[in-house]
Amino acid sequence: MQIKTIVPGIYKKFISAKLLNLSSVETKATCQNCLRSRDKRFSYTYESNLKCCTFHPFLPNYSVGALLSMPNKTVGIERIEHKIKTREFSLPLGILAPYEYQLKFLAKDESDFGNREDLLCPYFSVKENQCSIWEFRGVVCTSFYCRSDYGQNGLKFWAVFSDYLSYVEMALAEECLVQLDFSPRDMSDQLMYLNKHDFDGVEQSQLVIEADVDRKLWNGYDDKIEFYKKCYALISKLDRKQFKEIIGNQGLQLEEEVIEYANRR
Ligand code: SF4
Ligand code: SF4
Repeated sequence: MQIKTIVPGIYKKFISAKLLNLSSVETKATCQNCLRSRDKRFSYTYESNLKCCTFHPFLPNYSVGALLSMPNKTVGIERIEHKIKTREFSLPLGILAPYEYQLKFLAKDESDFGNREDLLCPYFSVKENQCSIWEFRGVVCTSFYCRSDYGQNGLKFWAVFSDYLSYVEMALAEECLVQLDFSPRDMSDQLMYLNKHDFDGVEQSQLVIEADVDRKLWNGYDDKIEFYKKCYALISKLDRKQFKEIIGNQGLQLEEEVIEYANRR
């Protein structure tokens, strides 16, 4: 197994071949029969029907477009369509957790993770006991391993890989917005919805974005599904040269770092 077999296919055209060919073999984190739900050496265990999916990931615009373009609709894709239709924090930048969830997640106790059903990811298929948007899952889900065959060095590698992929994800989502005529101000208005820490009275239970605010954020785009598909088309066309220009020196340095940490395992 190599990194190219675990990252969403969209990245394979432009992430460096050296990185894509790194080994991603991890035999200890057995997700189908979740290790963390049965190994008592962990400080606490997870429920086997929740695993490490008690988390609401951010999905960048182009991944949302990719999922909406898939021929078969999974429960997760239906959930995405519902979120778009009901203004459930689906922004031009991507789809994120509603404030109500963000606050709940921040306020949880450590051992709630993996154990509280109300935190379960909306894209998790209860029936199949697994992710239903795996092909285009976000960064955190692509790089999380509760245990590594390489011990602490392996976990460090995955953390560095996660930093790199987070940087790439945001750079590409923002590139879509630039190409679709959003101003830097429009983008910063949207970034405020991510990683929020203080919630006022109304925000504490907020599940959807108000219609007038939503209209403003969407900058005249009425058909959100088409918009997300356009983002997917833009990113699908990128080659390595264009990708390097988008991520710049900082992104390229992070790419080198991933390779360096892989070699330390
Ligand atoms: S990575 Fe998640 S699903 Fe996989 S074994 Fe660990 S806790 Fe379970
Ligand atoms: S997107 Fe998939 S892998 Fe990630 S938390 Fe949700 S169900 Fe789990």
